[in-house]
Order: sequence, then structure tokens, then C-alpha cells
Amino acid sequence: MINKNPLQQADPSIFELVEAEKKRRQEGLEMIPSENHTSLAVLEALGSLLTDKYSEGYPHKRYYGGNEFIDKVEDLAIARAKEAFGVPFANVQPYSGTPANFAVYLATCKAGDTIMGQNLLDGGHLTHGWKTSFSGIFYNSVQYHVKPDGYIDLDEARKLAQEHKPKLIWVGASAYPREFPFKEMGEIADSVGAFLAADIAHISGLVLGGAHASPVPFVHIITTTTHKTLRGPRGALIMATEKGLQKDPELGAKLDKAVFPGLQGGPHNHQTAAIAVALGEAMKPEFKDYAHQVVKNAKALAQTLMDNGLKLVSSGTDNHLMLVDLTPLGIGVGVFAEKALDLAGITLNKNTIPSDPSSPFYPSGIRLGTPAITSRGMKEEEMKHIGKWIAEVVEEIKDVKLPEAKEERPAFVKEFSQKIAENQKVKEVKDKVRELCTKFPLPY
Ligand SMILES: *Cc1c(COP(=O)(O)O)cnc(C)c1O
Repeated sequence: MINKNPLQQADPSIFELVEAEKKRRQEGLEMIPSENHTSLAVLEALGSLLTDKYSEGYPHKRYYGGNEFIDKVEDLAIARAKEAFGVPFANVQPYSGTPANFAVYLATCKAGDTIMGQNLLDGGHLTHGWKTSFSGIFYNSVQYHVKPDGYIDLDEARKLAQEHKPKLIWVGASAYPREFPFKEMGEIADSVGAFLAADIAHISGLVLGGAHASPVPFVHIITTTTHKTLRGPRGALIMATEKGLQKDPELGAKLDKAVFPGLQGGPHNHQTAAIAVALGEAMKPEFKDYAHQVVKNAKALAQTLMDNGLKLVSSGTDNHLMLVDLTPLGIGVGVFAEKALDLAGITLNKNTIPSDPSSPFYPSGIRLGTPAITSRGMKEEEMKHIGKWIAEVVEEIKDVKLPEAKEERPAFVKEFSQKIAENQKVKEVKDKVRELCTKFPLPY
């Protein structure tokens, strides 16, 4: 007899947790801007038997036999990445965004070399030189910031580059609501002979869909995760541009060597197959509509939040995400907004704001975005409701203050969570969110 529900029968504990997570997603709004809902086709490829195969090396140059079909899968993924982004080189093997970025360091720098990136608390990523990440531990890291208006401080970046002559510069971030200045950063990198890497982890889907300018003409290297706006499986790509190959004709070979054997062992072939499927989907005309709708939704949501009295970093957004500055309510209150909204069925994350007077663990803002809810088919009309609900829930925490004494904070947050769970407004919004969600079902 064929077993139709193998997981349910073999491991009911895990099966039930997956079902519970499915229900959580169906009944709530996923608004963490680095998340999305993949298609069933992507999930099927990801859950396929390709996971069993060892294939260290690259297509047609493997250390193991039996890779004739795996080679074709990886060839297809590479060809689609090159075509989709318009680049001459792609590596599809990085396990995720962090190892992809590590490979860029290995290919372009020696340990101890100077690198420059956007500061974490100003929206940058850990891997762009933050002190607790490999990138700040093994390299001499210089960080640029955003100005008080929320835009990248190009004058500072130019000055720091001249002064410190970094080997590698990063442009790209995890919490930056504006268009990235690829052209200007390209000029800065060229003026000091540095490699410029664009990390478009968050916005690669928007770039593919034509809803954000492409970095290709201005940078040497591009990295991206595949699970954010690109709407694929967890994973990453590293690409080299024509400009990059002109600077160093060996750049592609160096990037390949950095990924394997530099950093990784056998590629995750099921993941490679799912990336190929996601890239195929992202090259369809419908994906252009999706990418543009993500941005239209974000703009509509940002406007509604501001109309309802909330302050946004840089007063709006050009992309899929926005940062709410909660300092008018209090310092370090992001955690309360996150918890209250989560209980109301709206999932987003606490986040630092530029020059945050508090700390990354108790930051003064929240970060939210529209990639996942747009994948469900929601449009501007829904954004108006959601924006109003968010403002209403945030209003409920306006008198909550983070204790000054650090040791009192965990217990205070716990007590707050219990109390806010009983809040009438939170319950009301949760019901409205659930009702809205029934009209926008997920594919699974
Ligand atoms: C998400 C992200 C990454 C890292 O991705 P992981 O897959 O979580 O390792 C790298 N860079 C930026 C800018 C990101 O937003």
C-alpha cells in the first residue's frame, strides 16, 4: 500500500507542529519584510529526493559519480540566474545569505584587510562588518551611517573610503526603506580601487520585477538571498557583473573557489532545484506585476500609518519595507509594539532606528513590509485597513515605558505580554485580521 501521509504517520509530533504553523500563517498577516510565501512548485522541488545526493564540485567537475541529472539542475539554475539578472557569472550553491557574503570576502580580501559597509544600527547587515560577526572579527571594518533624515550619508562614505582605502565595499541593507545609491557608491569604490558588492538580499525580487533600479552597471559583485522578495527557498546567489570581470577576469573562478572548497562542502541540490523554479517564476510577466504591487502596497501602508499619527524613518518608503520610529511614545518600546501586534495577528519585528537611543535588543522602532501579504493577493485597499489596525494597537501601548534598570526588563516584558493579551482592542483587531485573511487564502 502506498503511504499517502508519511510524515503524519511516522512523526505525528512534527506533523502537528507544521499544521499549527500553517494555521498561524493562514490566520495572520506575515509582515516581516524578509519573509514571503513560496509557491507549491518551489516547495515540491525543495522537498524532493534531490536532497539525498552528494555532488561536491561544480557541474561536469564533481568529486562524486551519479551526477548527470544534478549537473543539469545546477546548469539550469545558473543559466536562469544569469538571464534573470543580466550578468555573465553566477554561483547558486551558497547555503544562505551569510555564507554567500563570507565567500565574497574570501574571494576579494585577505584576513585583516579593510572593508566598509553600512552600520547595523543604521539598517545594514551583520555580515557587512559588524563587530560580533566574522566580518568584523576577521577584517578591519569601517562603517558608514545614515543621515538624520534616514538617507545614506554618501559624504561620510566617500570620506571614509578615501581615508581607509578599503579593499571591499558593501552597498545594500536589511532595514533601509529608500532606493540604494548604486551609482554613487560605484563612483566611491572606483575612486579608491575597491571592489563594490551589492547585497540585494531584501530587494532582489523588486530588481527582477523592475520595481527597483538594478545594481548591475555599477558594481562588481552581487549577492542575494533567494527567500525574501525573490520568493524562493532559503538560499543565496553570488553573481559577478561585466564590470567585475573587467576589474578581475578571474573573479568568477575566485568566487567559485571561495564557495567550494573555501567555505562549504556538498551543495544542497534540492535547494538548487527550488532556486531554479523560483527564478523561472520570477522571469514570468506576472512577477513584474507582483513586484510593482509590493511597492504600491508599501507606499499605501506607509501613508496610512503616517495619516494615523505614526512617524516613519525618512518619512516614507521607496521599496517593500518601512521603519516606524516609536521614540515619540518612548525609548526602547519596539518590543511592546511587536508583542501587541503579534497577539493581534500582525507579525513584524522590533528594529533599531537610525541613531537609536536604546539598544538592538530593546530598540525604539518596528520594521514591517509587504512582500508576503502581496503574495496573498492583497492590494492598496487592504493596506488602508491594516495600517489603521496597526496604529490602533500601537495606541494601546502609549503609556508603557521600558524600565531603566536592565535586570527588570525581562520580567516587565513578560508581565506586559500577559496583560496585553487581554486587551479588548488587541482582540478586536485579531478578529478583523482573521476575517480579512479568510479572503486571501494561502496556497497550502
Ligand atoms: C537577510 C540578509 C542576509 C543574510 O541572509 P541569511 O540567509 O539570513 O544568512 C544578508 N544580507 C542582507 C542585506 C540581508 O538582509
